[in-house]
Amino acid sequence: MSGSHRWAWVEIDLDAIAHNIRCLRDVVAPADVWAIVKADAYGHGAVEVARAALDAGASGLGVALVSEGVELRRAAVEAPILVLSEQPREAAPDIIAHGITPTVSTTAGIDAIAAAAGDAGETGVSVHLKIDTGMHRVGARPDEAAELAEYIAATGCLHLAGLFTHLAVADEPDRPDTAAQLDIFDAVRAALPPVDLVHAANSAAALVHPRAHHSFVRAGIAVYGISPGPGVDDEAAMLRPALSLKARVSFVKRLPAGERLSYGLRYALPVDANIATVPLGYADGVRRNLSGLGVDVLIRGRRHPIVGTVTMDQLLVDCGDADVAAGDEVVLIGEQGGVGLRVEDWAGPLGTIGYEITCGLSARLRRIHVHRAGTDSSTGDGRSPQ
Ligand SMILES: *Cc1c(COP(=O)(O)O)cnc(C)c1O
Repeated sequence: MSGSHRWAWVEIDLDAIAHNIRCLRDVVAPADVWAIVKADAYGHGAVEVARAALDAGASGLGVALVSEGVELRRAAVEAPILVLSEQPREAAPDIIAHGITPTVSTTAGIDAIAAAAGDAGETGVSVHLKIDTGMHRVGARPDEAAELAEYIAATGCLHLAGLFTHLAVADEPDRPDTAAQLDIFDAVRAALPPVDLVHAANSAAALVHPRAHHSFVRAGIAVYGISPGPGVDDEAAMLRPALSLKARVSFVKRLPAGERLSYGLRYALPVDANIATVPLGYADGVRRNLSGLGVDVLIRGRRHPIVGTVTMDQLLVDCGDADVAAGDEVVLIGEQGGVGLRVEDWAGPLGTIGYEITCGLSARLRRIHVHRAGTDSSTGDGRSPQ
């Protein structure tokens, strides 16, 4: 496979995905779990994650784009796939042709799906109606819901199979806004004929807001073993991170105190040190400003800081007097020698959230899917590339 000789890669533990699905199912039962695999499963590889999640008991999948749903269908994934928001009219024929469930929230959106269903001679096509209960991103106003439900029924070819909303602050359990959104959602439900599938919870709500569980929860970040936010860290502690970012040292040199490194020559060595070069950079999603923030990597089971400006393809690590050699494994996210570095360790100092870190790992990095089964016994395909 082209690119397989690169000394930097992403490893995804599919047993961690399965573990996280099982944890979520226990927490939300009798509600079901649908795995949200948009953005290539938050950088984890959509097809592999979808299969692992479904095998572990997920009942359906959610995507942001029609193309993401089509990719899953082409990989022979047969589970329900919901596109989470209304899509351009031009996408409707693909939605119908691939048996993807559309979200609607306007009459124009309903018209587009109904026209495509009509052209394909399909009837009884399931749609989910999205209600904006306060986040104000997408969705119909609560007072439009009944009219839109009637509009869907009047098409003759569409069936209102689902009703849902999305929560803005579910990861901050102390804020009253979640209860306010769920009150509005309950009022909308009460004003409509019964709908089979009702859903409101993202990962954070799955973990801490039982009232939001309804028919199924739409779990994204928790499936990947990453906390949705500091306010739900305790509840997320049972989850296992699935993603590791690894590389091999490409070059080592000894430099004297006072020498400066990388673009801008901004980092000056405080003392003589072994400096390791790691062939990963911002083109891979390792953010340029990651150095100087106290973010470490692991080499030979010890922590060492990233120093100097991160460049497009390479970064530098100050290993002090520790022994280090070209070819040594470097762990930037994940475990080595019993020490673990988490996505959250990057997110805090960078002023962002774990979601953005894993989504930002670029397609240039090969994804290797492994099975670690809760111990460190990786399977044959879990070998590091040489
Ligand atoms: C992305 C998304 C989710 C998943 O959110 P997590 O916080 O990752 O669990 C659920 N619902 C909708 C509508 C989304 O866009």
